[in-house]
Amino acid sequence: MREFKDLVRPNIWELSPYSSARDEYSGHEAHVFLDANENPYNQPVNRYPDPLQRELKETMAKIKGVRPEQIFFGNGSDEAIDLVYRCFTRPGVDNVVAIEPTYGMYKVCADINDVEYRPVPLDERFQMSSEKMLAACDERTKVMWVCSPNNPTGNLMDRREIEKLLEGFDGIVVIDEAYSDFSLKPVFRQEVSRHPRLVVLNTMSKAWGCAAIRLGMAFAQKEIIDLFNKVKYPYNINHLTQEKAMEMLRSPFEVDKWVKILLLERERMIEAFKLLPICKKVYPTDANFFLAKMTDANKIYQYLVENGIIVRNRNRVALCGNCLRITIGTKSENSQLLSALRQW
Ligand SMILES: *Cc1c(COP(=O)(O)O)cnc(C)c1O
Repeated sequence: MREFKDLVRPNIWELSPYSSARDEYSGHEAHVFLDANENPYNQPVNRYPDPLQRELKETMAKIKGVRPEQIFFGNGSDEAIDLVYRCFTRPGVDNVVAIEPTYGMYKVCADINDVEYRPVPLDERFQMSSEKMLAACDERTKVMWVCSPNNPTGNLMDRREIEKLLEGFDGIVVIDEAYSDFSLKPVFRQEVSRHPRLVVLNTMSKAWGCAAIRLGMAFAQKEIIDLFNKVKYPYNINHLTQEKAMEMLRSPFEVDKWVKILLLERERMIEAFKLLPICKKVYPTDANFFLAKMTDANKIYQYLVENGIIVRNRNRVALCGNCLRITIGTKSENSQLLSALRQW
């Protein structure tokens, strides 16, 4: 079994991080700030924000059922995805293993970091085989990527199969739970205290309705979070984002209400799609979207664009031939999509 240190890029293990003005005085109450070359006017945006987002982490920890020191905030989950590569994988040397098809950023960040990406196809039910995932590893495999509920397929991965990865792989296992707010099943976020090499991703971009503020998060044990904090830009989460996120966290019932409506709409849309002559199959989903196999995805996609309606054409994605990915919108938006398709 590899030591934690063996998993980390050697230069990152050795790195002394940038120390910001606000890092250095901690432990004292201060009221005169002449340390950061800020302008004293134009409050509140004149000051550098808290580099460790302490207030936000306290509140988020309660909502997510984890400890504040188990949270990393990024400029979207995408920052956390990139940090996983920059902390754990050596360019041109290491590799990662991922389910296929899945969220495109895992591969893009692998390419940017010059890290070999090993896709392992899901089965015909879009389920992961832990056996195949483990068979794709060698001694240079540092990270495994699992997305559950998966994008673009929509389904949760079998929990037992994910557990087998956690038991059988001695590197970092990342489980992206961007859509878990739409599912009632237990989440792996709650398991980070039991698994020292587990990283779970969440985001404010989906159920929380905050894609524009760019706030994603990673949950993991402190050892991993400390590494992310060392490598991230010092002020990666800006003040306006922290403010808006705090405001959202004060109204979690609003989010529950949205999720309920979206799930009802999802059922309505799926039933309606099943009746469309141009829809051959709707795949099971645990997210705020569903994947539908159509008679001719390219033509239908183009027809919808001409009618001002944009869905995601996944025709060219592995195992998703002739599939469109449909996000659940408002009742009116959903109805517009249905009426356009009925007029095909
Ligand atoms: C939408 C999505 C995200 C969110 O990314 P952000 O950068 O936080 O907006 C992450 N993972 C998956 C699988 C997604 O579909």
